[in-house]
Amino acid sequence: MTVTLVLTTDLEAQIAAAAREPLETAGVLLANLVVAPNGDLRLLGHKVAWVQDGAYLTRERHQLLIASEGYVPALGEAEAAGLLPIWLHTHPGEDGVPLPSRYDHTVDRQLADLFRLRSGAPFYGALIASPRGRHFAFSGSLHPDDGPVLPIERLWQVGEDWRLSRSVDAAGPEIPSLFDRSVRAFGVAIQGALGDLRVGVVGAGGTGSAVSEQLVRLGVRHLTLIDVDTLSETNVTRVYGSTPADVGRPKVEVLCDHLHRIAPDLTCDVMASMVTLEATARQLAACDVVFGCTDDNAGRLVLSRVATYLLTPVIDIGVLLSSDAAGLLASIDGRITTLTPGAACLVCRDRIDLARAAQELRTPDERKRLEEEGYAPSLGGGEPAVVAFTTSVAAAGVAELLERLIGYGPKPRPTEVLLRWHEREISTNTSAPRAGHYCDPASGKWGQGGASPFLGQVWPQA
Ligand SMILES: [Zn+2]
Ligand SMILES: [Zn+2]
Repeated sequence: MTVTLVLTTDLEAQIAAAAREPLETAGVLLANLVVAPNGDLRLLGHKVAWVQDGAYLTRERHQLLIASEGYVPALGEAEAAGLLPIWLHTHPGEDGVPLPSRYDHTVDRQLADLFRLRSGAPFYGALIASPRGRHFAFSGSLHPDDGPVLPIERLWQVGEDWRLSRSVDAAGPEIPSLFDRSVRAFGVAIQGALGDLRVGVVGAGGTGSAVSEQLVRLGVRHLTLIDVDTLSETNVTRVYGSTPADVGRPKVEVLCDHLHRIAPDLTCDVMASMVTLEATARQLAACDVVFGCTDDNAGRLVLSRVATYLLTPVIDIGVLLSSDAAGLLASIDGRITTLTPGAACLVCRDRIDLARAAQELRTPDERKRLEEEGYAPSLGGGEPAVVAFTTSVAAAGVAELLERLIGYGPKPRPTEVLLRWHEREISTNTSAPRAGHYCDPASGKWGQGGASPFLGQVWPQA
């Protein structure tokens, strides 16, 4: 079981600024608790209620004494909004060690019952931050009513750039020498982050298999693969790792076997199921980032919400080939859209055909009848697809992840890349959320993944 704290760039910057204060600073970090099906816990940061100046009885470089009115109001707010309160304080100084002192342990024992009782949350949380450059180093823990204390091991920061860091008392993964050439490109820290990152890939076809293979060769070791289809004969032309002997097997199993040959130490969770089903979509709650490599519109509607409700960035990839009147390839379009806090979702960008999405969710009989009566779009199937183009667009999607982890590229960062291969043209754009839509930060939906219903949507009954 892994506990990850997820913070938007804004919230991370607030805590980093507090950690840079010369005197100890404290507050209550309110977070949504999401429990993934594999037992992993994610704390989605909502806000910090900082202790007001008047509530500090003592405030020095290495000592704090705070009146209860400094933190009790935040517990009421946590209870009203169903949030988990985390007692946050700083150990100042670039050389400060963010580990609990003996006094901190005493405070934790004193606060734990009060925090749980007043907030109704299953855990009392504690977090200590020390400044480290523009960011902060940390340690943290979750204390249940009974049972062992759980360390908060990871911090995943999302926004324009993405940053994965580990608590000061959790060892990072070893970097095997096979990654030497990558380490020369972006250093040990990024390589370590790739090995620690939990990545979901929805769709195991031409783009999904190419994305997965590249991720594994880059050092990603935790994958969740979702695709309901079995491998068909015509898939072999572009699905990485597939052979004619695999026809008829679930695509996710073919791909997972292939990836294990590249990286025997890979953890690969597979779901031969549709992401439009709640139980499948919940698997994504364990992921730090998700690649959308599906060509169905209903699936994209779900992924669009994942970015907002779970604070899990989604890189959505699409490839469209069209032929001219003579049946020859005329245009090759690729699209990489990055959904992350502050950016518009796929609906606001008009990247989802809502009529087709509705049709995809119908039963086959219903679908056929409505198509025949002309009430719904025909879904067809068997669109043209060519390995060179699916692979090139997949590579551009993986590059988007690298850009945000490493930090190169233009600022502000575009949230969409459009590739028009037939014209040798690449363009980028940004798009703001529509006012009031769930992706609009003002809607208050960001990070609400712990609430019910899951992702704030109605789910079809399986
Ligand atoms: Zn302390
Ligand atoms: Zn939107």
